[in-house]
Amino acid sequence: MSRLDAARRTVGTGVIALALAGAAVLAQQQNGNQEQDAEFAKLVKEWTTSPEFMSPLVDHLPVAPGVPTPKDVLGYYVGTPKKLTHNADLLKYYRALEAKTSRVKVLSIGTSDENRELAIVFVGSEESIRQLDQERQALAQLADPRGLTPQQAQDIIQKAKPIYHLMGGLHSGETGPSEMLMELAYRLAVEDSPVIRQVRDRVIVTITPAADPDGRDRYIDWYNKHLIDITSDRDRTPGPPYWGKYVFHDNNRDINYSQTSMRALLAWYLQWHPPIMHDLHESVPFLYTFSGQAPQNPTLDPILYGEMPMFANFEMAQLTKYGMPGVWTHGFVDMWSPGYLAFMSSNHNGLVRMYETFGNGGATTMKRRVTGEGGGGEAGGNQTTREWYRPLPPYKEVEWSMRNNTNYMETAVLSGLEYAPAFPQGVLENFYLKSRHSIEDGKKEAPHAFIIPGGQRDMTRVAMLINLLRRQGIEVGRTTAALKLTDGSYPAGSFLIKRDQPYGRLAKILLEKQNFPDASLRTYDDTGWTMGLMLQADVKSTADKSVLETKVEPVTELTLSGSVTTAANAAAFIIADYGSNNLVTLRYRLKSLAVQAAEAPFRVGTTEFPAGSFIIAAKPDVEAQVKKAIEPLGLTAVGVAKMPDVARHDVDLPRLAMFSTWGSTQEVGWVRHAFDTYELQYDLIYKERIREGNLRAAYDVILIPNQAGSAKRLVFDIEPKGKPLAYTKSDQFPSLGAYGSSDDITGGMGLEGVVELQKFVQAGGVLITLGASSQFPTDFGLVRNVNSGRPSAQFYAPGPIVSAEILKPENPIFYGYTQRIVPVRYANGPLLQVPETDRDQQVLMRFPGGDDSVMSGLMKGANEIKGRPAIVDVPVGPGAGRVLLFATNPCYRWQNHGEFGMLFNAILHWNDIKHPAPQPTATAASAER
Ligand SMILES: [Zn+2]
Repeated sequence: MSRLDAARRTVGTGVIALALAGAAVLAQQQNGNQEQDAEFAKLVKEWTTSPEFMSPLVDHLPVAPGVPTPKDVLGYYVGTPKKLTHNADLLKYYRALEAKTSRVKVLSIGTSDENRELAIVFVGSEESIRQLDQERQALAQLADPRGLTPQQAQDIIQKAKPIYHLMGGLHSGETGPSEMLMELAYRLAVEDSPVIRQVRDRVIVTITPAADPDGRDRYIDWYNKHLIDITSDRDRTPGPPYWGKYVFHDNNRDINYSQTSMRALLAWYLQWHPPIMHDLHESVPFLYTFSGQAPQNPTLDPILYGEMPMFANFEMAQLTKYGMPGVWTHGFVDMWSPGYLAFMSSNHNGLVRMYETFGNGGATTMKRRVTGEGGGGEAGGNQTTREWYRPLPPYKEVEWSMRNNTNYMETAVLSGLEYAPAFPQGVLENFYLKSRHSIEDGKKEAPHAFIIPGGQRDMTRVAMLINLLRRQGIEVGRTTAALKLTDGSYPAGSFLIKRDQPYGRLAKILLEKQNFPDASLRTYDDTGWTMGLMLQADVKSTADKSVLETKVEPVTELTLSGSVTTAANAAAFIIADYGSNNLVTLRYRLKSLAVQAAEAPFRVGTTEFPAGSFIIAAKPDVEAQVKKAIEPLGLTAVGVAKMPDVARHDVDLPRLAMFSTWGSTQEVGWVRHAFDTYELQYDLIYKERIREGNLRAAYDVILIPNQAGSAKRLVFDIEPKGKPLAYTKSDQFPSLGAYGSSDDITGGMGLEGVVELQKFVQAGGVLITLGASSQFPTDFGLVRNVNSGRPSAQFYAPGPIVSAEILKPENPIFYGYTQRIVPVRYANGPLLQVPETDRDQQVLMRFPGGDDSVMSGLMKGANEIKGRPAIVDVPVGPGAGRVLLFATNPCYRWQNHGEFGMLFNAILHWNDIKHPAPQPTATAASAER
């Protein structure tokens, strides 16, 4: 019996941890038979700022004749001061490694928004790499164990190898992981120490070199241009205005996988089913290993909550044993929201893992003051105290280098990898059991299924909902006959998501109401995401177990085909407004046609058309154009013999600008992504264009998405520090200057910009502000009568879904909405205050407030929003100028599609939002009080 077999039999006793820990140290001593790179050892020692920041796992690098190290390909070692590696060079290294060892394979999985290659690197024994396809199939069987007997499952578990996936470069300013992973891959491929051999033989390690390659290249260009010589955290300079094309950190909040690179990774995941997925980040000192603290999502398998601290504690013990201070668990990130990228694993019955390693935002050695850094979690801002979960705390001040970062992260990852093969069959067995439990839970526990009734008025949002579920691998079926359950009846053609499927628990997590377990707990991100509410589509659940026997046709992807029914000699085409977001796309696709909107519901024969329906006069050629546009958008059009007799207005497209600060582009990015997807045309403008003035001559509508957090920051943005901070493209820095360019991104629009925006609305322009940006027109006096305030310090609302009451259902903003009470995501926008004299005219939607208005997630202090305006329309100036203030964010993270329509309507009907003239004297007087 080998020592390993003996070790495997003692799993779970705690003995194994000690045995392997001893083995690791021993391994280094026994490693004399492999030639080591002396220059590497000397240099990394130099770059490590203090001896205790090094470990015996990474203080050496074996020489493997013919197999290139990162230095052989790139010209420098990982952790070299001031050296960062662009995406193409990362891949160049992995491909060079692949060419020289049969222990490495590189798989291309697509391209990014900016056409950079996305890849997965596999590292394992020759045998593992040769048999990757069999391994993939074995994992797929464990991921969906339906039809496997327990004995068959055990046979697979005994033979298969777990895939342990490591992800670097999701957050582009966190530069270390992508560097470290190259060295790790090399080490795993060539080192002959017992520990590494064991990892190589028993586990398949896979690597995402840079999850956001566009952002990585842009960040590195920026670092080389602006940050490389900064050696103290007191001289911090902001990062580049963009990482990837649309969103920054929120590529780790993309719950619906809307972003190209995130979608590619998910597709790979669903093919390969790595039971462990480990995301490498940088922030708090010195290394935080995620153990999954409360609040925890109760739908996930309890096994997961045992596995997470098990790995985390082992790593903490190992690094502490090596004398490395500042390694801790707990007290930072919780397990509530399922929307982080690597949670694709826990959402699919795998094990999610995550580190935060201390990093300098680049490869420059820097003096860092640690007290008060970071924050979040129950530990608050101070991460240097000794706690039960932080037995050897980080220092208050430290000289920190890229190599320190590499040493910590690589040592911890190697420890995690050392732990995994200690019981590889345990990892696989847990994966199998979690998958099986998901299926069994659906049979044992209500709800047994979710039902999306067929025949909903707007099927385009239903289709979107179904396709978002399908994207995550959730099985959806379509009923072929009417469905009668003890708690509801549904027509044939309804959609059924049975819970007795491998991803049944993910379906429950996404579709159920979120009941936050304890209002005294804080959480790292959103508390509510219920998809039916976010999309404003009807979703039911059932406690009737017989639903599991219902015959359904599997849905691969739901594509709707629009319909055009028409009589010969039609006088007009009517496109019904059932609240589809595709209506805005249709308008843009039919840009050259005159389109009108009905201002009230009307009938043609027996068919009733809602207000907002489009009316297009029939002319030669129009029918073909309408048909061509309607069908792919899933809309409904009818050709009618005579022009309907209903009040209507022209739907003329505005010359539209979207304003972005340079310092806070992320929320704007989500709106850009939505507008690009729905094909709205707009100019993205910055302070430079605002200051130039003459805005009314160029634009009809200026949209200021939620950003910056306060009016002051929206106006003054990044603080100037004496010298300009250019974001411009050059041969040397080709990734800069994308999505806008500026010789100096600091300073904001300033007061001169405020004046120009005021002139714009005074001259008849429409200004639309979303979320926090709605403090701008109130605080800078563009609207004199409306004020904005903030809730009390006790108020806490991390992204719940609350009800909102539509007060002016006839207003074009609410075309397509049928209910007076609608679910909206609470955006923590300003608490708006409109004087009583104007309230009746100007407040279009309000928050009923109170605990009863919280539909999903947590809002503590819900009485504070009682009766507060959610959308306000304020006429300004002598002409048709107006400011539309949304306290909501109707375009949030590709999530609240049910609210998108309010923003799209505001744009389509920008000059037809009818409003009685204000009464200036009363308004001014009440504003004074
Ligand atoms: Zn991060």
